[in-house]
Amino acid sequence: MNNRPTVLVTGGAGFIGSHTCLELLEHDHDVVVIDNHSNSSPGALDRVRKLAGRPLPAYEVDIRDRDALGEVFAAHRIDAVIHFAAKKAVGESMQIPLSYYDTNVGGTATLLRVMQAHDVQQLVFSSSCSIYGEAEQLPLDEQSPANPTNPYARSKWICEQMMADACTRYPDLGIIALRYFNPVGAHPSGELGEDPSGVPNNLMPYMAQVAVGRLDEVAVFGADYPTPDGTCIRDYIHVVDVADGHRLAVEHLGDETGMRVLNLGTGVGVSVLELVTAFSAASGTPLPHRIAGRRPGDVAELVADPSRVEQAWGWRTTRDLTAMCADAWRFQQLNPAGYGG
Ligand code: UDP
Repeated sequence: MNNRPTVLVTGGAGFIGSHTCLELLEHDHDVVVIDNHSNSSPGALDRVRKLAGRPLPAYEVDIRDRDALGEVFAAHRIDAVIHFAAKKAVGESMQIPLSYYDTNVGGTATLLRVMQAHDVQQLVFSSSCSIYGEAEQLPLDEQSPANPTNPYARSKWICEQMMADACTRYPDLGIIALRYFNPVGAHPSGELGEDPSGVPNNLMPYMAQVAVGRLDEVAVFGADYPTPDGTCIRDYIHVVDVADGHRLAVEHLGDETGMRVLNLGTGVGVSVLELVTAFSAASGTPLPHRIAGRRPGDVAELVADPSRVEQAWGWRTTRDLTAMCADAWRFQQLNPAGYGG
């Protein structure tokens, strides 16, 4: 036995989850993972074990499976939970909305019930900047009104409201919702990165697969937005910075009870075409791309005001767009077929 805090990470084999597990293990936390591998590979956890040189118990459990979840809580003394397990593609959420509510909202309610049954009071929740929707004012701080424009974003917003209600009713609960902007990049070792199942939905892994020859060209979803070059603007943030933010959140959970909401972003907006150019520079080859129609559910611009988290914890991002592209490209080159290759 030791006195290290134990963190349960749901969705720990996924893109942000795996980087966060490594960050926690490197900072002397014990970590337990559950993941149903619907959009992740157990291979990611092997890489985390190898990089950290420490054990990482993992269970193949669906977040909606209350009994199986309860068994994991019974087997480990869990101090805090980081909840990533969710479906996360805006476009797909327009196609299968009920599946999004089932997993994201139903799964989160189940997790909160199981935490309650096992007297676990601390949670970091993976929320999203997409809950802000079409911005009235940029950059977006945490006071900006929520106006989700698609089922994915709405599911995250419902979860936040559910958690706020739970905190009102159960004063010992402490929950931090991290609204992150667009996490991209990879661990600088090239061992961990983004390896979505099937054709990627998100821009960065799509570009990486075009660059490595798995896909033909990038479709730029809309060049008629009210932005300087007509393409959508997002606040891309390096996944290792996001993982660092989660580790810090876990370490600050004990500061106070109740619900806290914090943006994780850089404060810098980058258009789709600017990202294509940056990735082309990192990979040394111009990325073939064409302008296509808008993707339903997208908004023109999302950029963070990250000052609240900086004031609260002195946290800010330290990795720029060049590092995001270089690291994503390194992972793709070293793992052309992802973790399965
Ligand atoms: N995008 C694109 N082509 C793609 C995938 C995404 O032009 O193949 C655009 C998308 O319209 C959005 C931006 O890239 O403006 C970021 O999309 P992503 O899916 O990566 O993240 P989101 O902001 O939707 O969470």
